Amino acid sequence: MKLSHIEHIGIAVNSLEEAIPYYEKVLGLKCYAVEEVKDQKVKTAFFKIGETKLELLESTDAEGPVGQFIEKREQGLHHLAFAVENLESALKEAEQKGVKLVDKQPRKGAEGLDIAFLHPRSTFGVLTELCEDKRKK
Ligand code: ZN
Repeated sequence: MKLSHIEHIGIAVNSLEEAIPYYEKVLGLKCYAVEEVKDQKVKTAFFKIGETKLELLESTDAEGPVGQFIEKREQGLHHLAFAVENLESALKEAEQKGVKLVDKQPRKGAEGLDIAFLHPRSTFGVLTELCEDKRKK
């Protein structure tokens, strides 16, 4: 597969309201979007650094993936997202090479990206997201 850059880094937080001021007032970044992703049971806040974004994730449901993560592991780094040229073929390739997939098919993530997750059991502990921005094509 062909990765072009780190699209974003996902960070699980207990509260966007509490976390955003740290990123803005201490790190000097600007939150340019807050978006709820119902499918994922999260509210997200985005910051941009060069070509890479930070995605803060606040759980909207304790049973959702981020709610479960925070319950087990506390807030902190959650996932790494790579921009990939062709998501469907990248998923097929990963599966052929023995990687366990969380998502067998691409689905819609925040910011209109097509996304899919690889299972951390197959990626040395890093929950890995592949993203394709079809709007740029
Ligand atoms: Zn993400």
